[in-house]
Amino acid sequence: MTLIDTPAATAGYLARLPKTDLHCHLIGTVRASTFAELARREKLVLPDSAETIFRDINSLPPDPALYADTRIPVPMGRSADEPATSYSLFKASEWVVSVLQSAEDLTRITYEAFESAHRTSATRHLELFFDYLPPHLEKLGYRGAVEAYADGIRMAERDFGMTGRMIAGIDRSKSGEHAVHLVQQIVDNPHEYVVGIGLDNLETAGPPERFIDAYTLAGAAGLKRTAHSSEHAPIAANTITCLDALGCDRIDHGYFVLEDDAVVERVRADQTPFIVAFTTSRRSWRPWRQASIKAMVDAGLNVILSSDDPGMFPTTLAQEYEIASTSLQLDTSTLRSMSLAGVEASWLPEPEKILLRERFVREFDAL
Ligand SMILES: [Zn+2]
Repeated sequence: MTLIDTPAATAGYLARLPKTDLHCHLIGTVRASTFAELARREKLVLPDSAETIFRDINSLPPDPALYADTRIPVPMGRSADEPATSYSLFKASEWVVSVLQSAEDLTRITYEAFESAHRTSATRHLELFFDYLPPHLEKLGYRGAVEAYADGIRMAERDFGMTGRMIAGIDRSKSGEHAVHLVQQIVDNPHEYVVGIGLDNLETAGPPERFIDAYTLAGAAGLKRTAHSSEHAPIAANTITCLDALGCDRIDHGYFVLEDDAVVERVRADQTPFIVAFTTSRRSWRPWRQASIKAMVDAGLNVILSSDDPGMFPTTLAQEYEIASTSLQLDTSTLRSMSLAGVEASWLPEPEKILLRERFVREFDAL
């Protein structure tokens, strides 16, 4: 047992602790420096430097009436760290997507996502969400894009000794038919690195029920399933719908499950993995997220930390572990268990999972 008695020693320990990152969006990992370089190349005129734009991303609070009676109060006013001028996550994502022009660009940002995770956070396994191709990249086709991502993963596996997989993100603000179309594309073009689907974007814009057909199709084809749930909508039952009607075996976020004791009891009994992140673009909500994650841990739920959009917010997975240590007062043995729970919840095939688990235990011993 290592003696860790100073904040700096704890931070160093947590930076070296081996980790999985199971909830991370490719576009949200793009570095400000890469975005700046590609924006120059594409002659995209930005209202500010790429660094400033990313630093000042701040989503506006939604309809306050939705959150009037939540058990953990959701702050609706501005918080002290909110920038005077801000950029929405969706606007920033749109700019980043617009400067991606080729398969090489997709390979580069994928490789850099792994490189950053490796360097900053000792991430050993990364599962990355990718989105629909925007119109200007449709020339690549689904297979071309997936091969471009896969090239980046293969290079990262070679250079950093990591493993990686891709998750197709379904935009819940679009129709159920659109989601079925996307899943059909994945089913018709099976790829070793594309192992599952997820559901993202604003939860209030697309209830999980809308995607039952798409998820049923994915499940029949052997794809794994997750969904962003109980994140923006203060509805614990959405998570039950994701588990029972969509067939999810893990949940991204899930803070509002705390609204319903019966739901908490169910997900505790099942040890459903909740892949959470402290650092969100909605700054005024950060204290609420911390309080919610603390309550989830205290309730005995299977909580696993992730980085979500580390390039844009910005954060690192190591920093998320540090917040858990400093703000939630979780000790290093709890954080080690959390990192091992990430191995269990990953979508690696069982033989690779066993190897990764053994590697984590070896690395814990050497810390
Ligand atoms: Zn997310």
